[in-house]
Amino acid sequence: MNTVPSVAAPATLERINVMKPWLGEEEAQAIAEVVASGWVAQGPRTAAFEAAFAKHQMAAHAVATSSCTTALHLALLVAGVKAGDDVLVPSFSFIATANAPTYVGAHPVFVDVEPGTGNVTVETLERGLTVATTAVIVVDQGGIPVDLSPIRHWCDSHGLKLIEDAACAAGSTYRGEPVGRGADVSAWSFHPRKLLTTGEGGMLTTNNEAWAARARTLREHAMGVSAAERHSALVAPAESYAEIGYNYRMTDLQAAMGLVQLGKLDAMVARRRELVQRYRDALEVIAGLELVRDPEHGTSNFQSCWLEVLPEYPLDREGLLEHLGRLGISARRGIMAAHQQPAYAHVASGGLPVTDRLTRNTLILPLYHQLSDTDQQRVIDALANPKE
Ligand SMILES: *Cc1c(COP(=O)(O)O)cnc(C)c1O
Repeated sequence: MNTVPSVAAPATLERINVMKPWLGEEEAQAIAEVVASGWVAQGPRTAAFEAAFAKHQMAAHAVATSSCTTALHLALLVAGVKAGDDVLVPSFSFIATANAPTYVGAHPVFVDVEPGTGNVTVETLERGLTVATTAVIVVDQGGIPVDLSPIRHWCDSHGLKLIEDAACAAGSTYRGEPVGRGADVSAWSFHPRKLLTTGEGGMLTTNNEAWAARARTLREHAMGVSAAERHSALVAPAESYAEIGYNYRMTDLQAAMGLVQLGKLDAMVARRRELVQRYRDALEVIAGLELVRDPEHGTSNFQSCWLEVLPEYPLDREGLLEHLGRLGISARRGIMAAHQQPAYAHVASGGLPVTDRLTRNTLILPLYHQLSDTDQQRVIDALANPKE
């Protein structure tokens, strides 16, 4: 058996995790009602969750899926991205962003990000543009809104489809409105590492009615009649399959939980922003730790509150992670870089200096709704006393 070197938390200190979902009796009750109803697969709760999410995000259409990864796959299919196309993606993202183009036989082309936001810009995208490029996937990394307007303009002038991987960003805003609205199609995650959770789950949003309809069909085997329609009919209509589809459905158990969680989203964002402000005030007097902040063009839900460990800090990133671990604090390495992974060893990246720097030097701080002032102070004290 491989042994992974680990740091055991001192027995006297309760462990502080990087994230904890904010769940309660209401979620349990909502799921119990679904169980009692006897309809546990995709059905009326999923439809209600889609409608509520679309309203919250000011999107014309929302299609619930089994995850953000499957929503991204459907987004590329409905956007017409084909085998052999090039799709510009940031390497500085969870691996699913790069995997999605691969699922349709397209090639991810890795582009760099700007240091302040960890997001792509027109300048970084321009360096990756090829004659085969048909689409761009932008990410609101860690919840920080991407500066979409100039990218939208650039995509339009090059005839490129614009897909937003908003996995982390429910509750973040861009120019006063929910993120995700300016893209052709956006994808969302409800994994417990994000704010709003359904255990696993995702959503696709778009203002394009035809794309939404196709995504809806593709997520259930490209069946001509939906499963919900078939099962509610006394005599089920015959189904037909016009193309090859998938099973990317969300269940009503998940959707019922999602509806409750969506009702709590604004409170979650407010609490996270309050906690981040407290980190910011404390870190102002600690040299060498640079905390991520809201860009001028929007507000973050701070899904990931990352800091960059600069050379003037006494420890490097790995040293700081270990130091925190010894004190029972489970921080995390920052966002990964897909181009450094063996799965993408075949993709030439042409140098991504900001991505390399951020992925090496950043660390994600514990941040969750129920984080107590005392526990947050423990994290702050640990950051302020790196030698102890
Ligand atoms: C979490 C995440 C995903 C994947 O979401 P799942 O719902 O787990 O499939 C994709 N992209 C980004 C940027 C993410 O952070």
